[in-house]
Amino acid sequence: LVRVRGLTKNFGTHQVLSGVDLDVHEGEVAVLLGPSGSGKSTLLRCVNHLERPDAGFVEVAGDLVGYRHDGGRLHELRPRAITRQRARVGMVFQQFNLFPHLTVLENLTEAPVAVRGIPRKQAAARARELLERVGLGGRESAYPKRLSGGQQQRVAIARALAMEPELLLFDEPTSALDPELVGEVLAVIKDLAVSGMTMIVVTHEIGFAREVADTVVFLDDGRIVESGPPGEVLTAPRHERARAFLSAVL
Ligand code: ATP
Ligand code: MG
Repeated sequence: LVRVRGLTKNFGTHQVLSGVDLDVHEGEVAVLLGPSGSGKSTLLRCVNHLERPDAGFVEVAGDLVGYRHDGGRLHELRPRAITRQRARVGMVFQQFNLFPHLTVLENLTEAPVAVRGIPRKQAAARARELLERVGLGGRESAYPKRLSGGQQQRVAIARALAMEPELLLFDEPTSALDPELVGEVLAVIKDLAVSGMTMIVVTHEIGFAREVADTVVFLDDGRIVESGPPGEVLTAPRHERARAFLSAVL
């Protein structure tokens, strides 16, 4: 479903991604690990065309992300086409980024109504189902600030699901949470994995990676230095940087 080839990104003279290749098949979960500054967030942002690659490309479901071929040349898509592509890829951030002035239900219906043109009533019915699914049935009238961090993050996940994405990207979804709230959010993500959702998850939760990932990818200084099933990469990493990182976070 996701095909990344030769992905390279520079910020000024700093090469943040250096020729990254990555495949995530439909229904699979890839967990991205790596030290701070290794390029994990930048990689996720390229999948959504929130960053423009300097070389290489990303394909989602066979479509080139952010560009179209035209007579042998690449042209960046128009903003509206980029918005349409992004609507197929859900993203959940460390900071929940809910709309503070909207209720929980309105947070979930806003984009489906505005971007996908779904009738408000239908969007609201779907939103209630999703809130049930993340364990927040009955909280639809609450405003985000009245919820705990774990509840807000579960709303953010439900909001991403409301767009019926083909792919979900998570960037350290539990890093901003108090430790006792981490489990409830990981449980929701795990449930999505079991239901067959394709996901790329940046996290330092190694136990979660071990349990849920099909592939663990270890990024160091903009390069994939190790990738494979969690049983291999997490148990017997071959690369020295991966070993050092794992012994630091475990
Ligand atoms: P962390 O674990 O801290 O979130 P990360 O692996 O997600 O790190 P990135 O956020 O992808 O790392 O950043 C990789 C490098 O790119 C860092 O050195 C960062 O300072 C730099 N960087 C990221 N975004 C920008 C930007 N918009 N402009 C300039 N430099 C940037
Ligand atoms: Mg990051």
